[in-house]
Amino acid sequence: MLFLPMEASDAGWLSDLFKSSPKQVKSPKHANSPRRAAPAKRAPPAKRVTLAGPAASPRQRNIKLAALGPVALSPSAFKPAAPTCDPAKFRIVLDVGHTAESEGALSARNVSEFFFNHRLAQRIEQTLKADGFAETRLLLTEGKARRSLVKRVAAANDWQANLFLSIHHDSVPSKFLEEWEFDGKKSRFSDRFSGYSVFVSRSNPDFRTSLAFAELVAREMKAHGLRYAEQYSQPIMGRHRRPLLNKETGVYRYDELVVLRTTRMPAVLLEAGSIINRDEELQMDSPQRRDIISSGVAAAVKQFCDRRWAILGPV
Ligand SMILES: [Zn+2]
Repeated sequence: MLFLPMEASDAGWLSDLFKSSPKQVKSPKHANSPRRAAPAKRAPPAKRVTLAGPAASPRQRNIKLAALGPVALSPSAFKPAAPTCDPAKFRIVLDVGHTAESEGALSARNVSEFFFNHRLAQRIEQTLKADGFAETRLLLTEGKARRSLVKRVAAANDWQANLFLSIHHDSVPSKFLEEWEFDGKKSRFSDRFSGYSVFVSRSNPDFRTSLAFAELVAREMKAHGLRYAEQYSQPIMGRHRRPLLNKETGVYRYDELVVLRTTRMPAVLLEAGSIINRDEELQMDSPQRRDIISSGVAAAVKQFCDRRWAILGPV
């Protein structure tokens, strides 16, 4: 079993991302523990996904794109005759990982992953909108972890989004955790690993396009001087080990992720960085790092939306 059942000790980290039958769901052990975001750092209220009329489905677009190539790559091939992607109409869902009720991982300084996810997703939303991607929506979901997965996928599918990007921050399996005191409180950390990682599922109906977008995101992260989290390819991760699809950029395969395999559009999950690593948590908390990641994601979306990419495919 690659992914079930999760240990209760991992409940706050990755288990929210999996499908599981209710009897296998252990109640979160930390529900009454101090594993909460500081009240002052509460994320602002949820903004709903608004549902709009139908857009061209990814499938329809792919048929169009498939009809284009392969082509001889003369300079004229780069001049779009008809844009396949109009930024003003391109529907992007930025899925804020976890919920206020089920906050995901806890940072080395006891701030919830949900808080980090929400703040970064908001910055990415602003950047994309400023770049003309008006149909960018934050997807904030309420409720318990697994029910929220169904809800967030349903919202993206109902809206007929063209692209789905789930925003998360990373932690480690509990066996790597060490203790320290922060703010007078016993806290847990691991400085052993750091970095971003990008995940795709082969079970997504449009795996190839998902992978192409994942590559664009990962390349942007790398181009901005960030390093990817290499541990997911290593035996030490045990059942958390994932196939590394590109050892240059840090794109991994993670077939079981609900938000990647049940979405009906290209879907990618970005672990933006580790918040259990004390040094990297401080960086992830900085506006500069959020700007770097946001502009990287926006650049990746622009390339994805570009017809030249459609002709060339991932290279
Ligand atoms: Zn997460």
